[in-house]
Amino acid sequence: MKTKANVIFTAFEAAPFIKTGGLGDVGGALPPALNKAGCDVKVILPKLSVIPEKYKKKMEPVQTLTVPLSWRNQYCGVEKLTYHGVTFYFLDNEYYFKRDKVYGHLDDGERVAFFSKAVLESILKVEELQCDILHCNDWHTALVPVFLREFYMGAEKMAKIKTVFSVHNLKFQGIFSEEMLGDVLGLDSKPAASQLCQGRGAINFMKGALLYSDVLSTVSPTYAEEIKGSYFGEKLEGIFNKRSDRLFGILNGIDTTEYNPQKDKKLPAAFDKENLAGKAICKAELQRKIGLEVKENTPLITLITRLTEQKGLDLILRILDELLQEDVQIAVLGTGDEKYENALREAENRYKGKMCAYLAFDPALSHLFYAGADLLMMPSRFEPCGLSQMIAMRYGTLPVVRETGGLKDSVIPYNKYTGEGTGFSFSDFNAHQFLFVLKDAIGVYLSDQEAWNKLVVQAMETDVSWKIHAKEYADIYKKLMEGSL
Ligand code: ADP
Repeated sequence: MKTKANVIFTAFEAAPFIKTGGLGDVGGALPPALNKAGCDVKVILPKLSVIPEKYKKKMEPVQTLTVPLSWRNQYCGVEKLTYHGVTFYFLDNEYYFKRDKVYGHLDDGERVAFFSKAVLESILKVEELQCDILHCNDWHTALVPVFLREFYMGAEKMAKIKTVFSVHNLKFQGIFSEEMLGDVLGLDSKPAASQLCQGRGAINFMKGALLYSDVLSTVSPTYAEEIKGSYFGEKLEGIFNKRSDRLFGILNGIDTTEYNPQKDKKLPAAFDKENLAGKAICKAELQRKIGLEVKENTPLITLITRLTEQKGLDLILRILDELLQEDVQIAVLGTGDEKYENALREAENRYKGKMCAYLAFDPALSHLFYAGADLLMMPSRFEPCGLSQMIAMRYGTLPVVRETGGLKDSVIPYNKYTGEGTGFSFSDFNAHQFLFVLKDAIGVYLSDQEAWNKLVVQAMETDVSWKIHAKEYADIYKKLMEGSL
């Protein structure tokens, strides 16, 4: 019996090539961790224009293909590049992928349908792409398991492939007009047509993956339970309940090489849990850089996120004025909805030197925000996993989170009686509960240095790597190959 799983991992994002959020972090960090857990992983990505030139230059051509997409036959170039011991394959078609941003185009449905079909054509036709397990992620690759079953099972190379589909964010499902079924997907006369339909003339790509994949996973145990109910289930809770024996919640990890306070070249000084002097240098540098008063002993609270409703921006705006009456500083790094950007910009104007709204998506600069702050706010309405709180802990910045999804699974709330904890948390989506716990955290910072330092050390000692959780995926792959799942 073969024991090493050959895995093809496919997603629309993988850092450092393509990243707009947590999916990019996972796409970059999970595959090498799976290799360390005993798998043999290859990754397939779209060759998008946003990929930095230095990587594009190193790609080698592998093969060219024609990809059938309903009545179309589209060109696809396959190129590859090895990075951190993993071979990444990039599928090229300039008509679909030569765009200035990753998402937000009118034909996103067709772009991801092309990519999903091209993934399968590459596996079918490129000799070195063999797999036992095909691991797909989020709605952009949700059609892969559907196309696999409807079009490719007759081919010997494809017949035994098992599929895993991971939900990173259920909010985005890929909902389009049912006209696409025939015109783009070529599925109108297949059983999938009725499975993808969700009524009112719409089809739902993610629904297809949830019904057609052998195993489903999501990115934290708590979220795996939450999505079985109607509040978090986004109208798909029925499927999660029906397939609950096939649904696994596996907590994400972070790339502990990229995020390492001891060796981080993006910081002015290194630090670790035994010597936090470098963290104070990072704090002063952050304050200087973004126009806050340089004050060593004032708690600096950061927010590093997409500025959307999901991330609890309404709670933050509700309490901002009251919070800023305290001796605190606030540093926001984010982009997103205009109404939130405007409100934060306005607050910056009112509290110059105390509050900064740095409205940009800047992964390199985010390191200084994580390292230089004392607290990170993450009062999410829902949070499948969340990586920011884990990155913050790695840099000794204590997260203040709402107890939902992966936030609940990754942050141990401070217990003032035992000293236990790696952050602070509150349960209800309520602005004043949030403010109360923030004030609590500020109180510990200002008046109990010993307890604070202990919390910082405990946060930095937390294992936020992929080591344990990559093994959980590897175990699932193994069970699928043995037929015990
Ligand atoms: P989500 O995937 O829902 O956006 P996560 O917490 O899972 O949230 O992951 C977000 C990732 O994106 C983290 O690596 C975080 O540091 C990064 N990020 C978010 N906003 C910014 C920003 N404005 N600049 C740089 N990095 C950001």
